[in-house]
Amino acid sequence: MTLKGLPAALITFLLGFVLGCIPGLNAHLHWNLWYVVPISGLVFGLAAGGVQFWYCYKANEEVSKAMMLCLILAAVVGYASVDYGIYRTTSITLEGAEGIEDGTYPLSALMSFTDFMRLNLGSSSVKKDYGAGEMEMGAAATTISYFADLSGAALGTLGALVLAKKKYPYCRQCRKYKRREREYVIQFAFEESLADALLGGVRERIAAADYLSLIAYVRQLAQTHTNSKGDMRVSVDHRLCPGCSEATLLGKVERRKGREWHEISTARFEFTQKAQVA
Ligand SMILES: [Zn+2]
Repeated sequence: MTLKGLPAALITFLLGFVLGCIPGLNAHLHWNLWYVVPISGLVFGLAAGGVQFWYCYKANEEVSKAMMLCLILAAVVGYASVDYGIYRTTSITLEGAEGIEDGTYPLSALMSFTDFMRLNLGSSSVKKDYGAGEMEMGAAATTISYFADLSGAALGTLGALVLAKKKYPYCRQCRKYKRREREYVIQFAFEESLADALLGGVRERIAAADYLSLIAYVRQLAQTHTNSKGDMRVSVDHRLCPGCSEATLLGKVERRKGREWHEISTARFEFTQKAQVA
């Protein structure tokens, strides 16, 4: 691991900094529900984790536990660098301030970044009421809120990486991500007996580790059940390692209620077949 994840980590810092530089947007970047539910942190973490995984996928870099830890740390620092972006791009208009001529100053000319953060953590209203003495929100509350936000970023990143790892299987032997060979979609109007028989057939073949029979079965089902108005859907993602052809099948089962599809996570299935040596 070590340096291999560095580009993914750097992307995260950049993401945070650029977000902080966007005027108007940056005021919403520390948005907490009731000051403790870190919405912005979570959203940032999810986005950061997604971008990091995208890089790893392109570079065929495995997201190991150690790598995951580094990427989460990077996302937390990236989220903190939003504040640095804000600091670098905010200007303040001063009138009648003692010892300073009236005018608009970049924030970075007026105070150090450390002081800026100290002010930030002292009060959330500092931007609106600069110097007007509305510092009563409470330093402790703002600080707790800030750290809740940072842990939100960590959680969001962890969630995104764990989900992506499940969706994109990796071949350790060849150090490559498996690429999609085909996706099969089996769709029909829900009938309990039909659904049971169909998923039972899949489970039987997985239990018997019969890869060829499983693929043939899924392919045949996808040809038979093509009712695009059906309210039950089984999607099977067939992925192969470009190096050794190790195969993974990821199955997802969904029911439709109204217009929305809901996954039945207990019915999810997965099968990996080591490549046959010819
Ligand atoms: Zn392989």
